[in-house]
Amino acid sequence: MRHFPVYLDTKGQRIVVSGAGQTAVAKLRLILKTEADVLVYGEEPEAEIVAWAQAEKLSLTQRAVKAGDLAGARLVYAANDDETEDARVAALGRAAGALTNVVDNLEASEFITPAIVDRDPVTVAIGTEGAAPVLARKIKAMTEEALAAETGQLARIGRTFREAAEMLPQGAVRREFWSDYYGAVGPRALAAGGAPEVRRALWALLREKLASDARPGHVHLIGAGPGAPEMLTQKARRILHEADVVIHDRLVPAPILELARREALIVEVGKIPGDQSWRQDDINALMVRHAAGGARVARLKSGDAGIFGRLDEEIEALDGAGISHDIVPGITSAAAAAAAAGISMTRRGRNSSIRFITGQDVDGFAEHDWRGLAQPGSAAAIYMGVRAARFVQGRLMVHGATAETPVTVVENASRPEQRIVATTLGSLSSTMASEGIKGPAILFYGLAARTADVLPLPIDTPHSIAGEA
Ligand code: SAH
Repeated sequence: MRHFPVYLDTKGQRIVVSGAGQTAVAKLRLILKTEADVLVYGEEPEAEIVAWAQAEKLSLTQRAVKAGDLAGARLVYAANDDETEDARVAALGRAAGALTNVVDNLEASEFITPAIVDRDPVTVAIGTEGAAPVLARKIKAMTEEALAAETGQLARIGRTFREAAEMLPQGAVRREFWSDYYGAVGPRALAAGGAPEVRRALWALLREKLASDARPGHVHLIGAGPGAPEMLTQKARRILHEADVVIHDRLVPAPILELARREALIVEVGKIPGDQSWRQDDINALMVRHAAGGARVARLKSGDAGIFGRLDEEIEALDGAGISHDIVPGITSAAAAAAAAGISMTRRGRNSSIRFITGQDVDGFAEHDWRGLAQPGSAAAIYMGVRAARFVQGRLMVHGATAETPVTVVENASRPEQRIVATTLGSLSSTMASEGIKGPAILFYGLAARTADVLPLPIDTPHSIAGEA
């Protein structure tokens, strides 16, 4: 970002425009919207400029700019349609300590004027640093369409009501008041009865919110999906956008957290496998503390919150503290991993069931019904299986699973670093090592990838592996 957008206070400031032709007219149309004193210098001024001068919207001097003219100017526009004259004026402007702009000459300008969507006091500035003027126009047209004409009027009335709205506690309740006003109540009242009706509606809304102000906090237990922001549900996205506090697991990546409000408190409660950096009790206490204080808490867990997410423990803690909560389902990583590998998790005649198992639990590597899993036609999605891969491989083979059983490893499903490795049970642990799989990964046991980045290796000597287990 070479050009940093800021809003300049023009009240009581002086803006000088050198040039009085069509180029100057175009700029003046924008500049005259400000509260600045506008001074125009130029011979043979366009009729519009003369008319503006007569209406006392600007002061016009019918000669070229001289050095003394620019004293105290905050902005100087060189709009002479003459390179030499523009350069002279820009140099005078800089010498006088003003910020200078040479119209349509990015390199010679210290600042540039954006495309503006004007719903005063709401303004949207659009700039592309000169890279794509057509795109800027397109965005401007889209924005013009998106912002109803009455936006400005609603904001002006809203501004006069800010003090009254301070009767509401700061935070979620007050935000909701404004969001209701701009989203529905205000536009409806304006259409029905103009400004007086809007003011009546604001008072009614305020009374309503004051009455319901004692609302306690709430925790949304949200499945944030496998990592790609696109794979968040609309509901999760909306709640995230409204939350006061976001408490998230390590596996929820930055692009998702960026969807939270800027003012939201964001806390990572990372649990690194095998290394208990945040204890579950502390996470529970954190959620309870914020919600009890009235905050709307978004508790983001990777995938679906109800799969290997210790969801029940969190629910029990919330129930115990009398905190209301709800669960928002998410796309579990196995679903995303299967999609990435181009496979179905069940298939008539192949596997009519699939087990979701974990490679690790609180006590270390997790035990399962290995005998059942080793049966031909079994399938499993193994979560937290990277470190347990060798263990799982050994257990299954000891119980009779064949070395040729396909295994598909999907690392970082849905994320930019996604990798799909096709292997077999017999060469699982050596492939994991040679491919440097670090996780997060789903291991599909009994399911062959349709598409893969890495194809199966020859089988290891099965007996040595079985023997180690
Ligand atoms: N609740 C989560 C699982 C949490 S346990 C869900 O429904 O997906 C953490 C495990 O999830 C990781 O060890 C890994 O096995 C899996 N996982 C999470 N994100 C993943 C991703 N993007 N790609 C592959 N596996 C992932």
